[in-house]
Parts: sequence; structure tokens; C-alpha cells
Amino acid sequence: MSKPRIAIVGAGLGGISAALLLRAEGFDATLYEQAPAFSRLGAGIHVGPNVMKIMRRIGLEAPMQAMGSHPDYWYSRNWNDGAILSQIPLGDYARKTYGASYLTVHRGDFHQLMVDAVPSASLLYDKRLTAIADRGKDVLLTFADGTTAEADIVIGADGVNSVIREHMLGTELPRYTGWVAHRAVFPASALAKYGYKFDQCVKWWSEDRHMMVYYVTEQQDEYYYVTGVPQAEWDMSKAWVESSQEEMREAFAGYHPMVQSLIDACSEITKWPLLERDPLPLWSRGRMVMLGDACHPMKPHMAQGAAMAIEDAAMLARCFKAVGTEDYEAAFALYRANRIERASRVQKVSHDNTWLRTNEDPAWVFGYDVFNVPLVEPTRA
Ligand code: FAD
Repeated sequence: MSKPRIAIVGAGLGGISAALLLRAEGFDATLYEQAPAFSRLGAGIHVGPNVMKIMRRIGLEAPMQAMGSHPDYWYSRNWNDGAILSQIPLGDYARKTYGASYLTVHRGDFHQLMVDAVPSASLLYDKRLTAIADRGKDVLLTFADGTTAEADIVIGADGVNSVIREHMLGTELPRYTGWVAHRAVFPASALAKYGYKFDQCVKWWSEDRHMMVYYVTEQQDEYYYVTGVPQAEWDMSKAWVESSQEEMREAFAGYHPMVQSLIDACSEITKWPLLERDPLPLWSRGRMVMLGDACHPMKPHMAQGAAMAIEDAAMLARCFKAVGTEDYEAAFALYRANRIERASRVQKVSHDNTWLRTNEDPAWVFGYDVFNVPLVEPTRA
């Protein structure tokens, strides 16, 4: 296979990273995305030094630095009195210790920056994969619009409800964890009247729920909160629903006045189910391989789900470079061997929701360098 045709299904942060990193290694890759277009949905995202090292390789470190907020610390605070439970140094400390910046950004801005870096001919919208067939010599992809495509290698970056996972392992809905996340982004100016000094990045914790809060722009003029709140049921036909300030006030009754002011500041709130799967028995079959939420969806409580998808993409590109694409099964085995332990550990800590609640050393997450970590060999079955 001198120049394999690589199809990537799904242009989320994982799929786009794979396209950009593969192109940087000289491979051709085409993205097939079900959405007709992307919009700036109201959500933030942490981008740790482990991800910023990958943005450096892609050539997007400088625009990311200019886009995101650079918090000096991650604070954890007690829900009612605001007492500091942990203070994790970021800022200059992160740059020196982990080799790159720690940012918090608007997810839509981050995604758009990545989209803009892909040549438009390599990102096809309105392509919802409905069927896939490994024909031995190649793979046939069929889309909802009736079109088809052929590829030598297919990367399933199609998220928690992955069609490619379903093709490999059968139909099974992800597990609703019994938790939801409320999300709201709003102008920081709406908080001026309260007279508080708001933290750049803080998680408010009580026994069974929390609220994570941070700026999403370099100017720190947009603020974001995302919660974790228990809720017994979720209608799995819905990806998200509208929420309200009344619901938030009830869920966070008794929380510190700073938290109440955040709730008062914004009336547009969405609510999302938190979904998981157990670690999958396989990540690839034949000419198909998966990355990101397609193979290890997790609760977002470490703020590392997209980070794991992006790291997967970088490791997959590294393995293609090391092994070549001729023996794609060997490349897939090497990729899985070098990702499964870390992704599963992050899934577990995210599930337990303990990350940075107390002063702990985050170096194993933030210090990771996917391009230089020594490779382990796959164990033979
Ligand atoms: P996705 O982002 O889900 O992308 C999949 C793409 O595939 C989508 O564009 C979709 O439209 C497309 N697609 C799906 N099916 C098909 C199909 N059949 N055909 C074609 N295209 C298809 N992670 C962090 O790192 N930091 C955070 O701070 C953070 N906060 C979070 C907060 C919340 C409330 C939640 C729910 C998640 C959070 N995450 C965070 C996790 C993160 O959102 C996911 O882990 C990440 O988006 C996974 O990326 P992905 O590319 O694997 O999948």
C-alpha cells in the first residue's frame, strides 16, 4: 500500500486530530462527518500540557495560546464556605514542569481552529455513516445520503454511539451513569455587580455533586460552568435538553453565594447525560480501528475525554509511521498496546470523580508526551 486511502469517520476533536497528524506524517486522510456544519455550542474545555504538546506538533500551539485562558491554579473549594481543598499550580509551573501550557478554552473556538487547518476537500460534511463492510482487499463505507466511499484503512472517530464500534462488537447503548452535566457560557461582565473576585479555574465540591467553573477566552471575558449532578433517569433518545435557573437553584441550594451568582448570571443552560462503557475487548478488527469516545467514553470528571481522543490520534499516527500501513494490523496492535492502560486508568479516575479534589501530583496526566513515551510491544494472544 504505497499511499493508502485512510477514511476517518467523525470530525470531532479526535478525528480532526488524526487527520492533521496523519497529514503531517505524509499520509492522505479524508474525514466523513455526519453534521451538515459545526456551530459554536456553549461549552468549555480544559486543554492540558499533554494536549498542547500535540497542538505544537500540528502547528496550532501559538493560536491556541492566543485563544485560551491561562489559569495560574486549579482550585478545589468546599461547597458552602468556599474553603480551599486543593490548589494545583498551572501557569508558568505547568510550562516548566510539564513542557507546555495549561489552557481553558471555548470548545467551539478550539474545534473551529482545528477544522480550519484541514484542507476543505478532505473534510466532507453531511456524510452519516450507515453501513460499513470490510471486503478483505478494502472497506466500503455507505452514507445516509446514498453515496459510498472506498478506503484501505478506516478510523472510527464517531463518538460514544459509534457505528464502527457497533459493527465490530454489536448493538449496545452506552451506559447512563445516573449523572447529568449542566452547561452554561456567559459574558463575564454579567458578574461585575456581585463584587467577588472569581477564580480563573475552580471546582466547587459537595458530597454528591460539583460545579466546575473557568474562563474560556484569553481576555477572560467569557465564563463557563459545567456541573455533575445525580439524576436517576435519562431518556436515551435525547443527546441533551434545555435546563433552567430554577433547576440549578434547586440542585445547588445551600452552595456558596459565589455559586448562586453564577446561576443568576445566565438563563441559557443545557443539560447533558454522562455516559460510559466498560473498557472494550477490542479496538480494531481487520482494516478498522477506533479512537476516542468510540472506544473509551468516560464521565468528564477529569476533563480528559477529548484529551484521550487527541492522544489516541497522535499515537495512531506514530504507530503508522513506525510500522507502516502495509501491515495495518501490526500498527493497530501497537497502537492499542500503547494506549489501553492509560485510557482505562483515566476512565476509572473520571468515574470515581476524585481528580484534584485534594492536593495530588497530576504529572502522570499532564507530563505525558505521546511522541516520546517509550513504546511497549503488544502481547501476543
Ligand atoms: P466526538 O467529539 O463525540 O466526535 C464524534 C464526531 O463523529 C462528531 O462530530 C459526530 O457528529 C460524528 N459522528 C458520529 N456518528 C457519525 C456517523 N455515523 N457518521 C459520520 N459522523 C458521525 N474532554 C476534555 O478533554 N476536557 C474537558 O474539559 C471536557 N469536558 C466535558 C464536559 C462534558 C459535560 C462532557 C459530556 C464531555 C467533556 N469532555 C471533555 C469529553 C469530550 O467531550 C469527549 O471525550 C470528546 O469530545 C471525544 O471526542 P471524539 O472525537 O472521540 O468524539
